[in-house]
Amino acid sequence: MANAAQVQRMSRLMIKTLRDDPADAETASHKLLVRAGYVRRSSAGIWTWLPLGKKVLENVSRVVREEMDAIGGQEVLLPALLPKEPYETSGRWEEYGDLLFRLKDRKGADYLLGPTHEEIFTLTVKDQCTSYKDLPVILYQIQIKYRDEARPRSGVLRGREFHMKDSYSFDTTDEGLAQSYALHREAYEKIFQRLGLDYRIVSAVSGAMGGSASEEFLAPASAGEDTFVDCPSCDYAANTEAVTVKVEPADGSAHGPLEELDTPDTPTIESLAEFLGVPASATLKNLLVKVDGEIVAVGVPGNREVDLGKLGEHLAPATVELVTAEDFVDRPDLVRGYVGPQGLAGKAFRYLADPRVAPGTAWVTGANKEGVHAKNVVCGRDFEVDEYLDVVVVEPGDPCPKCGTGLKIDRAIEIGHIFQLGRKYADAFELDVLGQNGKPARVTMGSYGIGVSRAVAALAEQTHDDKGLCWPREIAPADVHVVAAGKAKQTELALEIGDLLGDAGLRVLVDDRAGVSPGVKFTDAELLGVPTIVVAGRRAGEGVVEVKDRRTGEREELTVEEAVARLSA
Ligand code: ATP
Ligand code: MG
Repeated sequence: MANAAQVQRMSRLMIKTLRDDPADAETASHKLLVRAGYVRRSSAGIWTWLPLGKKVLENVSRVVREEMDAIGGQEVLLPALLPKEPYETSGRWEEYGDLLFRLKDRKGADYLLGPTHEEIFTLTVKDQCTSYKDLPVILYQIQIKYRDEARPRSGVLRGREFHMKDSYSFDTTDEGLAQSYALHREAYEKIFQRLGLDYRIVSAVSGAMGGSASEEFLAPASAGEDTFVDCPSCDYAANTEAVTVKVEPADGSAHGPLEELDTPDTPTIESLAEFLGVPASATLKNLLVKVDGEIVAVGVPGNREVDLGKLGEHLAPATVELVTAEDFVDRPDLVRGYVGPQGLAGKAFRYLADPRVAPGTAWVTGANKEGVHAKNVVCGRDFEVDEYLDVVVVEPGDPCPKCGTGLKIDRAIEIGHIFQLGRKYADAFELDVLGQNGKPARVTMGSYGIGVSRAVAALAEQTHDDKGLCWPREIAPADVHVVAAGKAKQTELALEIGDLLGDAGLRVLVDDRAGVSPGVKFTDAELLGVPTIVVAGRRAGEGVVEVKDRRTGEREELTVEEAVARLSA
């Protein structure tokens, strides 16, 4: 008897495929998931998962769940609607700013919709675990998260409501945390391999989260919003935000004395470099910013751009703003457009610099006088750097911090993130257990995320072709898509082979829709992206069907028996 649950007739499936791309869609996954009837936009960044989409989402969740269970993770489900207090304790009620969905209950108490759950997991373990014997523990959930993203775009790639697997490890020792982290890293590798995603593991910025080790799993794709560097010669790979540059001191003794030069009409680096006949890389640009209101200068080579986002991350939680004309009013020592660090660094302003501004290097820079620049301004002799920061925008060809080879830069989608948090949250919530020595021991934590709904879109990005979606079998909404290309005889055969395949344990979609032309059915089959397409067509009367590989397009005519044997093997 046919296994009804495994055979889905399209005549009874709620699906409406579209020939045209949605007007607002830019990325392939957005266009195709909508056109193939997998998802439907509900409001900005908020999506309904339709029957086929829900199956794909569940398949991803199942793989994630199996591999999390395999490392001893215990599945729980925490609420998405959370009280404000724990997030005030951690400081994130404020820190999250506009990203947080905040709401009030009928009594006026503040709540939020959880963007991630470190606070609540910490409280859960504080309540449930009392002794070192209760640890280590890995807890996870697959749950809906809320973030009021500034630019919810690209369909389910970046939602304001999205599905995430988040897990948290709790250990008493640093070695334990390293072990929990390693377990997650291995589980993530298995998950992304099983999902059929092409991915890279790259170093990430630990930033304001304050942990030590942090890596991201990135799926290379042109639709990605992240960029990462990959070294062609060694194993170095990092998010461009996390690329570091070494401070390599030079021999500064050979440079001549500092010399001031009249440089009329040279307000830009380009005009200055041309006037003096030096490359822009020989000039030193000093960007003035206000850090919590205090003026700070950031020195970078003239041919490089400062990444304000990165600067902000380095200086967080301080706020960083660009200076305005008004800020110069009370500061005659700061000559707009002609600022140089000599005489001012460490006195008039704190001086932060790119590591390329190393001790012993000489620069052309502003002379702190209108229309005048200075040359042979030597770091360590004429000015000192208060702090080195990696804040320039990374460019292709920049040297690999490990081996020096020119780096490549590519775009990618962040699909996972693993993080050794350390004791930040345990400290905030005083999470202790009774230690082996009878004294309280502070717990150390890791936090680990996978974008489950984002992974669906990332897979669509990486695997689609010009005809439509093209799922790997493990994730596809069905194993086989049977098309009845004709009338009663074809439909009968299609349903028969569908049942036989279902009996053999395969998940089958049968396009038995009456009044839909074979051409439309073929187009829909390619759009939906089930890995194998079986067509009951011309030779249905002889019991012969065509078996086609969705990806390669390879096709073969087989009898029903042969086809069932082949596909269920
Ligand atoms: P991003 O930099 O893309 O905003 P994030 O670093 O803030 O992501 P994490 O806090 O590390 O995200 O969340 C864990 C995982 O959840 C991410 O690796 C990503 O796969 C997924 N994710 C994060 N934000 C979204 C979103 N708005 N829509 C869909 N998935 C998301
Ligand atoms: Mg992240």
